Formats: sequence, C-alpha cells, structure tokens
Amino acid sequence: MNDTPDSGSTGDIPVPAAASVMKAAALGLCPRCGSRTMFAGLVNFADKCGSCGLDYSRFNVGDGPAAFLTLAIGTVLAIAAIVFDQAVHPPFWVHAIIWVPLTAILVVYGLRIAKGALLVVECRRDAREAGSLETDGSRRDRDDDT
Ligand SMILES: [Zn+2]
Repeated sequence: MNDTPDSGSTGDIPVPAAASVMKAAALGLCPRCGSRTMFAGLVNFADKCGSCGLDYSRFNVGDGPAAFLTLAIGTVLAIAAIVFDQAVHPPFWVHAIIWVPLTAILVVYGLRIAKGALLVVECRRDAREAGSLETDGSRRDRDDDT
C-alpha cells in the first residue's frame, strides 16, 4: 500500500493528473472525476458530486480562507485606494464605485478559489480532522462510495 503524501493518490480516490489544484479550485471541478460540481452557490459547496457521488460534506475547510483573504485583500485594496487617492484626488463617490464592488468581487472569487483549493488538497491527501482515526488506524467516518 502506498500512502506517501506525494504519491498523487489517496488510495480509493484516483486523481486526474491533468487537473491542477488551482485549476480545479478556480473552475469548481470535482477532485475525483473532474466534473464542474464542487459549488452549489457562490461560495457554498454542494453536498456531493452529481457525477461520481464524492461526498463534499466530509471535508472541512473551516474558516481559515475567509480570515486570510479578508486580511490580504483588505491590505492590498487599502494600499491601492490610498495610492489612487494621492495620485488622482478623486471625489469620494469615485472611491465608492471603484472599491466597494472590487472588494466584493475579489472576496467572493478569492474565497471560492481558496475553499476549493483546500477541499482538493484535503481530498488528495485524504486529510481528516484530528481524532477521526480509530485506535487501529482505520477511519471512523470512512464511507465506501467507490
Ligand atoms: Zn465527481
């Protein structure tokens, strides 16, 4: 049995070699079959893949992407707004029509990519929350939907 992290395989989940993590995340591709089924809404995961039945709810990406993106995007946009204001001196309404929609778009699409990437990586690494392993090494929440 080959369980090394760099094997590119998770045992029962074949990984399409051509699909990179970022491509799968950006397009919302299922990490098992490559169908465009990962998201049910703007940033919400579907319950499971409509093509192969992979249960997306068994992966827990948590709130890490949201906190990181809020800080990173907020920093970049604040600096951009300050530089723009110092260079052009636009009226306030120009700032409002530029930065408010840009922030919303970047946060939503960035969150979608970050959550998707974490789900793909969790799936490929067969990652689970700590404590979900039985003492004999078997998975407590393992489903056999192959
Ligand atoms: Zn699938």
